[in-house]
Amino acid sequence: MSDQKKFYLSENEMPKQWYNVQADLPSPLDPALHPGRMDPAGPDDFAPLFPMELIMQEVSQDRWIDIPDAVRDMYKTWRPTPLIRAINLEKALGTPAKIFYKYEGVSPAGSHKPNTAVAQAFYNKAEGTKQIVTETGAGQWGSALAYACNQFGLEAKVFMVSASYDQKPYRKSMMQAWGGAVTSSPSTETESGKKILESDPNSTGSLGIAISEAVEVAVQNDTTKYALGSVLNHVLMHQTIIGQEAIMQMEMANAYPDIVIGCSGGGSNLAGISFPFIPEKLKGKDTRLIAVEPAASPSLTKGKFTYDFGDAIGMTPLLKMHTLGHTFVPNPIHAGGLRYHGMAPLISALYDAGVYEAKSYNQNECFEAGVLFAKNEGIIPAPEPTHAIKAVIDEALVCKETGEEKNILFNLCGHGYLDLSAYDSYFAGDMIDYSLSSDEIDRAMESVPKV
Ligand SMILES: *Cc1c(COP(=O)(O)O)cnc(C)c1O
Repeated sequence: MSDQKKFYLSENEMPKQWYNVQADLPSPLDPALHPGRMDPAGPDDFAPLFPMELIMQEVSQDRWIDIPDAVRDMYKTWRPTPLIRAINLEKALGTPAKIFYKYEGVSPAGSHKPNTAVAQAFYNKAEGTKQIVTETGAGQWGSALAYACNQFGLEAKVFMVSASYDQKPYRKSMMQAWGGAVTSSPSTETESGKKILESDPNSTGSLGIAISEAVEVAVQNDTTKYALGSVLNHVLMHQTIIGQEAIMQMEMANAYPDIVIGCSGGGSNLAGISFPFIPEKLKGKDTRLIAVEPAASPSLTKGKFTYDFGDAIGMTPLLKMHTLGHTFVPNPIHAGGLRYHGMAPLISALYDAGVYEAKSYNQNECFEAGVLFAKNEGIIPAPEPTHAIKAVIDEALVCKETGEEKNILFNLCGHGYLDLSAYDSYFAGDMIDYSLSSDEIDRAMESVPKV
């Protein structure tokens, strides 16, 4: 193999369909449950929140779903994204492994999130939605949605977790540049927000709390819908364009991946890079798929696989997933946007079935890996994918010991140019490692309903 560094596809090679892994699951997913009735929720239960097309995609068993032309046209703003071989990092590690990454940081919002935001805005527009309301943690999802809504002439209203609202002003500026309205959560605009503030006036918020606020606003208005940037089946499916492009680009590099790695908060960028490799894996190809999460929010490696609410208050349907308990409030010292209490039902089920492995790391070792990557490859990664990079480096060092020339593929799901304050605190030695204790998990798990 030559030492070609970048592998590009032309715009007309961009995939025309998303891959729906539900068609290939070892057993079907357990249904979402209605939060009041505790029985399976149907399309009517979701209709106040989502356009019907997305509700149908959520439960579809079709292996392939067409990407609308208008969505493909919008994708052309930044897609296809490059596949890059991390040759300098390989040399620095002295590994015989070949390391490839798909770079999603080239999107307008700087992450993979516009892949689903654009699709969701399109289907909402087609069904008469005027405003989309959502939550955002670190701000990546809110900015992706604000961008997508602006492209399709919709209003965006974003509840932003208060810890990030104060720490990450530039994401707020991006949302505003694209015309989005941003509110710090918990807020006094909703009953859910007021309830949280009554019991804890200094609450720094959480994704779960912000979800409660956004859902409450959405159900009160017919032309306002809700959108989620991760976790749900249709969101993960929209991300599969990443892995499908990667399959073609790895062919150009003449290197089928032995290991595919992604960081996992709700599971969408991991699903995006890895789901398209599952059909071959199920046919017997020996590809390892690895989810990497922070030790501070370890839903796969330490959570339980059970039904839980998607939000902090218990308004959303219950999903069968790996969860730390919906009342879990992650320690605000953790900088990464991987702080959700649950994991996507699809990733959870595939992990339970042994299709995925999972690992967790502390944040200092991840930033160290991120800095090594930046020094060798130039791009400064977002804090989230530094978790993937840490796992990549560990696997590449195993290859150094064994002499195996493995092909390692990972998703560089976003750049870190709006997260430099987190790098500052790492350089200053202020970053504290924090592993969630089993006592804390047990306490949060007490809130999980017995189904
Ligand atoms: C949102 C986000 C994540 C976490 O969400 P997933 O659904 O797990 O992908 C990770 N990295 C970046 C850059 C993000 O924007």
